Amino acid sequence: MALKYQPLVIVALLLATPAWAESHDLVIENGRVMDPETGFDQVANVGIDDGVITRITSKSLSGERTIDATGLVVAPGFIDAHSHAQDAFGFRLYLRDGVTTAMDLETGAYPVSAYYDYWDGRAQLNYGVSVGHMWARMAILDDVDPKGRPFYGGVINESLKDDAHWQTKNYDRADTPAILAGMERGLKAGGLGIGFPIGYYTATSSPEVMQVAALAKRHDSFITSHVRYLSQVPPSGYLGFQEMITVAQVHDVPLLLHHVPSNCLGLTTECLDLIDDARASGVNVIGEFYPYTFASTYANADYLFPGYQKKLGITGSDLVVIQTGEVLDDEKFERMRTEAPETFLLMYTIKEKDMLAAARRPGVVFGSDGVAWIMEDGSDAPADTPYGSGRGHPRGAGAHARFLRMAREDDAIGLMDALWKLSYGLADFLDDTIPQFKTRGRVQEGMTADLTIFDPETVTDNASWEEGKNTLPSTGIPYVLVNGVPVVDDSRVRDDLFPGVAIRRAVSD
Ligand SMILES: [Zn+2]
Repeated sequence: MALKYQPLVIVALLLATPAWAESHDLVIENGRVMDPETGFDQVANVGIDDGVITRITSKSLSGERTIDATGLVVAPGFIDAHSHAQDAFGFRLYLRDGVTTAMDLETGAYPVSAYYDYWDGRAQLNYGVSVGHMWARMAILDDVDPKGRPFYGGVINESLKDDAHWQTKNYDRADTPAILAGMERGLKAGGLGIGFPIGYYTATSSPEVMQVAALAKRHDSFITSHVRYLSQVPPSGYLGFQEMITVAQVHDVPLLLHHVPSNCLGLTTECLDLIDDARASGVNVIGEFYPYTFASTYANADYLFPGYQKKLGITGSDLVVIQTGEVLDDEKFERMRTEAPETFLLMYTIKEKDMLAAARRPGVVFGSDGVAWIMEDGSDAPADTPYGSGRGHPRGAGAHARFLRMAREDDAIGLMDALWKLSYGLADFLDDTIPQFKTRGRVQEGMTADLTIFDPETVTDNASWEEGKNTLPSTGIPYVLVNGVPVVDDSRVRDDLFPGVAIRRAVSD
């Protein structure tokens, strides 16, 4: 008799004894689990094994380690497709800001293989890059090697010595085969789509852009653009959007339009309407924004050529030198543009109402546009740069937490909507062409455990462009998991963990 009832006793013990309960590598307990794809929003326990979310349940779970997330939100890790701050210090600040995947899809890199070789095994978060049309032009028209580093300032400077043909040269049929071959090499090396930051080289001609974009279709990929004509008077950013939407339509390729307010300025609402109308008519296009009223660029960007005041609706005194905090005027700026063309600047070009129009518009995704940090002497910031030092637009340190703070303070932005913009919206846009996004941007069983755990009541940015505050990390994000590994642990970045993987298309010969 005793033997006969033994199995029941064991079942009872399994149900009653935590030590025998379902066990996981890691458990996140009592957090408010929010999934923007399904709308799931409940306090639950999350079990993680081998980097994958294996269980989401109201039942208690046991794990080799348990993180108490009481009072915290468990969200999909933030995906940033607009990250130029592709260095170890930049990645550290991104992690503190809740980012689990930081890609530069705007300017991209070239050669693409050099970029991926550089980061192999040493990234604390997931990383990736598009094939950069501007870099391919530089390599081919100026014979300067961009070294696979996104926004490598030294390279731009090197090309300027030689008239920067990548920036100034119009369409020449003789150049096209080499440019197409270079771009195709990048796609075959696993580059994520084609980046057209043509706002930085408006001399390039439409036929070249159209022909290069055809490669995206041939390789089942997509295109992105920082459009040309940064202006609110004709030819305007609106016209720049029309150009790229036509390119996407002709080739039937998905299109990501970067930082809508910073390109459209006073025409932002009209540009957002244009994107919505294009999407309604079948073009797979999506817009992006960042939550600041000032942009960042370098002095010789061609939208700052003489006459910029009318186009941008600013004067020289709306320009600030990042490295020194000096506020310029028309005359000082013109001298800087010609004598120190690579100087990084902030420019107060975006009106609050335009930034908010994009932040509140459904279907617009988030991208920080964070730019690499530089030290007082102009050198790149090393990995162990103390927080607070280093200069740059604060969006590289605080953009994501700033947006969560905005969502808390602005009744027109719901928290789930904010999370959609920060994670799932972009994953959903990219997962047709990049399979690794089919399991990211979601908190569901079977998905990759890229997770950002934050306090919705206190999360905030702390970085501003004032001296000593450029690189202050965000707070209120105590845990960030990359592929199941808590690389931000109790608000500290673990210097000894490198769980990031390459986000990359299949490499072909
Ligand atoms: Zn841009």
